[in-house]
Amino acid sequence: MERLIGLFAKLPGLGPRSARRIVLKLLRERETKLLPLADAMRAAAESVRNCSVCGNLDSRDPCTICASASREAAICVVETVADLWALERALIYRGRYHVLGGSLSALAGRGPEDLAIAPLLARLREAPPEEIILAMPATVDGAATGHYLVEKLRPFGIPISRLAQGVPMGGALEVLDEGTLATALRARRLTP
Ligand SMILES: [Zn+2]
Repeated sequence: MERLIGLFAKLPGLGPRSARRIVLKLLRERETKLLPLADAMRAAAESVRNCSVCGNLDSRDPCTICASASREAAICVVETVADLWALERALIYRGRYHVLGGSLSALAGRGPEDLAIAPLLARLREAPPEEIILAMPATVDGAATGHYLVEKLRPFGIPISRLAQGVPMGGALEVLDEGTLATALRARRLTP
């Protein structure tokens, strides 16, 4: 039980107190809560993978978005899968994605080789999209990552746009409401 509580307490948004309450609830309702949850977790652990094209999480590879024939020929570059899902929830963008897996950070010692930048460049060479949208968060690292990407992507001659107003300073994309995110995406600007 302590092990279970310890594991839950490490999840985002949970601490020891809420972890304890969750574990008690699960143990009290073993048949209807604990066992279905254990089954669902095992199934997810066995079937969910990173898409080999874009980095999204899905039970199929290529993921549903990459495999779809109806998606527009644009690539929206995001830091995390959570950001990708947030943009999908906004229901305004109908193109494809590329998940970097983080941002450049001098402080955290993360360089270009730690992000999925080389696969992005390979993708652009293989099938150039009509537009690249840089959907970075409005953080120092996000700005640095965007700046670096613009330098790398410019030689391809593909129009590059970035999210405009709507993304607050220091704001992570995944916590924004759909309206704010939709405004930011609509008001994106071409990078000169
Ligand atoms: Zn994909």
